Amino acid sequence: MTIDIDLDAPGKQTGAIHIPSSRDESAWGAVMVPVTVIANGDGPTVLLVAGNHGDEYEGQVALHKLANRLAPEHVNGRVIILTGLNFPAVQAAMRTSPLDGGNMNRIFPGDPQGNISQRIAHIVAEELVSRADIVLDLHSGGKTLDFVPSAVMHHLDDDALMDKTAKALLAFGAPVAMILGEDTSGMLDGEVEGRGKVFVSTELGGLGMTTAERVRWADMGVDNVLKHFGVIDGDPAKPDHAPRFLDTEPEGCFIRARHDGLYEPLVDLGEEVEKGQPIVHVWDINNPGEEPVVYSAKRSGMFYARHGKGLVKRGDCLAVIGVDAKGIAV
Ligand code: CA
Repeated sequence: MTIDIDLDAPGKQTGAIHIPSSRDESAWGAVMVPVTVIANGDGPTVLLVAGNHGDEYEGQVALHKLANRLAPEHVNGRVIILTGLNFPAVQAAMRTSPLDGGNMNRIFPGDPQGNISQRIAHIVAEELVSRADIVLDLHSGGKTLDFVPSAVMHHLDDDALMDKTAKALLAFGAPVAMILGEDTSGMLDGEVEGRGKVFVSTELGGLGMTTAERVRWADMGVDNVLKHFGVIDGDPAKPDHAPRFLDTEPEGCFIRARHDGLYEPLVDLGEEVEKGQPIVHVWDINNPGEEPVVYSAKRSGMFYARHGKGLVKRGDCLAVIGVDAKGIAV
């Protein structure tokens, strides 16, 4: 495994991480994951990542735009850009790698002797995360989820890091700042947080495509985070409305399907719901005339995320309700 540019040199370079991949279609071939570095003078290093899941597009578009426009004279410090972390998945428009099934966000810190996905994770952790002070990993819902555009973090044991991360989350400027209750083992998130570094993620939309509005949120957010840390000059742009700070307590915020069927949303993303309010009907496609299964909100809050397809299967994430975050002083 090699990186064909010098990550520590000033100026602007684009190259690739080479992961040898000898296979039927290409003996002596390699998977080449594009990497851009733009460095100038003193300042922090920000690692910007998209395509951690290959079918999530807001971040990929925003980082291609940034890699195109950002010149060394704009930068105080260093910006490292990965437009497509799980590059085989990006090429195939899939969440996970078609080469080995690897879900890049479940295999950190990777393995230098492992499969292609594990080797990508390993070199990114050892060569890129190690150099970064701040990591911004741009996700969205992919083909099967849809989100209110949001910047995302986790509850952290380290109060100072929690405070620094929350401030970066608000600086991002998306409509929602979200504290996600999820197990971060194997995730890039946990890899960075475990090293005591600022980690900001996003959920900027979804459905395996993007919109002009969502790309604008991504563009603004990336720009704002770079300004917040002084890596580019200027003050972060202020959106019309301050971000709403939400949390997802494990109890009752995540609603999973217990039945297969047709998904009827009773509310749309961003709407407020009350505890007990029906939010989704699931209709049995085999039995017209029967009553639907009713799924109700177990908490009052914002209808923050939903299943992104018209049919659901038992076990699918039907909806996520975000509740107002408590005890966050920033
Ligand atoms: Ca994702």
